[in-house]
Amino acid sequence: MFLVSSREMLHKAQLGGYAVPAFNIHNLETAQVVVETAAEMQTPVILAGTPGTFSYAGTDYLIGICKEAAKRYHMPIALHLDHHESYSDIQKKVEAGIKSAMIDGSHLSFDKNIDLVRKVVQFCHRWDCSVEAELGRLGGQEDDLIVDEKDAMYTDPDAAVEFIKATGIDSLAIAIGTAHGLYKEKPCLDFDRLGIIRGKTDVPLVLHGASDVPDEDVRRCIELGITKVNVATELKIAFSDAVKSYFIENPGANDPRHYIIPGKEAMKKVVQDKIRVCGSEGKL
Ligand code: 13P
Repeated sequence: MFLVSSREMLHKAQLGGYAVPAFNIHNLETAQVVVETAAEMQTPVILAGTPGTFSYAGTDYLIGICKEAAKRYHMPIALHLDHHESYSDIQKKVEAGIKSAMIDGSHLSFDKNIDLVRKVVQFCHRWDCSVEAELGRLGGQEDDLIVDEKDAMYTDPDAAVEFIKATGIDSLAIAIGTAHGLYKEKPCLDFDRLGIIRGKTDVPLVLHGASDVPDEDVRRCIELGITKVNVATELKIAFSDAVKSYFIENPGANDPRHYIIPGKEAMKKVVQDKIRVCGSEGKL
């Protein structure tokens, strides 16, 4: 109990026609905001951390924080490895107690991506850990992962069918025009492609790069079959902007118990909005 795989919550969401929000967290305070808000709104939730976040905060600390949060609010939590690229890194973290992983081989050739993902799936499933993989490639920046626009690649629907069959993954992240980070222009999503992929496949589909995408576009993606929505950048901006404003208004401030509060409150509003867009409120 406490830390769970994302398999069951995503299947339930797929049947129910809503999406589970996955929020990137970095430390105690950001995890507190996400779990407290999720408990208040009774939504299933995924807390995600990139390799950079796990090395910053410490895997053991993050696991401890999330387990305690799950106990405190009597709700299962999926602590998820976001954009992990190394088999041995995933192995270590799963053995430490994590039950939800993304293996990102999207920078590899199709065949090499399959080989890596299959190996991760074989390992993770022995530990009841669900596995997400990515086919196609998102542009933009997520922590240390930087993909130039020219290297971004949309997901091919037929390749997705073959990829799912060959790897045994639990969910698939697809590239349909979103990017990590903020957009220079309004993103133009390929809804037709999403519909075709949904029609040909049955695993839950994942939308990365949901920050700064208009709510109506995210809702449309969910209607068309997206089951997990990843949000990171908007949370960081809300948190840091509020802390910056606090320091401008209180230049002598030095107590983290004071200056962090406006950051948490601002982040909470974004978390609430995204939960509403996902349609997951009350679905715990
Ligand atoms: P954003 O930073 O664009 O919200 O993307 C988050 C994400 O996809 C995490 O994997």
